[in-house]
Amino acid sequence: MSDGERRHILLISGGKDSTALAIYMRDRYPEIEMEYLFTDTQKELPETYAFLNKLEAYLEKPIIRLGDVEGDRGFDHWLAMYGNYLPSPKMRWCTRKLKIEPFEKYVGDDEAYLYVAIRADENRRGFISTKPNLTPVYPFIEDGITRDDIGRILTESGVGLPEYYRWRSRSGCYFCFFQRKIEWIGLLENHPNLYEEAVKYEKPEKGYTWNVSESLEELRRPERIEQIRREDALRKEQARKRQRPKNLAQAFGILDMDIDDELGCLICHL
Ligand code: SF4
Repeated sequence: MSDGERRHILLISGGKDSTALAIYMRDRYPEIEMEYLFTDTQKELPETYAFLNKLEAYLEKPIIRLGDVEGDRGFDHWLAMYGNYLPSPKMRWCTRKLKIEPFEKYVGDDEAYLYVAIRADENRRGFISTKPNLTPVYPFIEDGITRDDIGRILTESGVGLPEYYRWRSRSGCYFCFFQRKIEWIGLLENHPNLYEEAVKYEKPEKGYTWNVSESLEELRRPERIEQIRREDALRKEQARKRQRPKNLAQAFGILDMDIDDELGCLICHL
């Protein structure tokens, strides 16, 4: 896995898989001089920042925060540059400007291995930079590491899961447009100040809202919240009926991460 010349780079999103990969690589391949990176949009959840500090203590190595080190400008700067047009799944300028470009600038033209946290039980390849000097490596696929193993790696290391998994399925910005309606309610309940900040970004009269179908002002009406909760409970119930527990830990709800593996923004959410 190492040719002694190339750099070794591992992008940490603040999510479970990239965290588990950082732990896995540190424990299994301590001889590799890994550079751990976190591209900071400056709009991440407080739980993510706290979790990064915890992981950093385990790794006994700094996680380089690209926004800080490189002086890259944050979300608000780029929002102004894009005429206050909020990013969306179709217009994902945030990922390019705040994640991919700072990362590629940091690596420059150096030859490097990029360690990608796609698991053996997933059918996708994840973020691959178009830069030819970067060679993607998939240790979890190569070593047959699956979802259950991720839970074990996180638990046994003592790092565990980030706190936000109690109410949200993915890492990323607090206002990320990939989050479900129930997660917006989670944001409202856990971080009402951040929900207010997200409301301030919206301009419904111009059609600038985080969700296509409704503004955050509409979403937080009590009757709407009740409806979203009911729909979410129904969805979970149907998912439970479809899926039997695969192991004892799941049966007893120990490692049962109700964590969404649906594709969002891979570089943000791994
Ligand atoms: S987490 Fe969401 S809002 Fe933030 S950069 Fe990624 S896609 Fe954009």
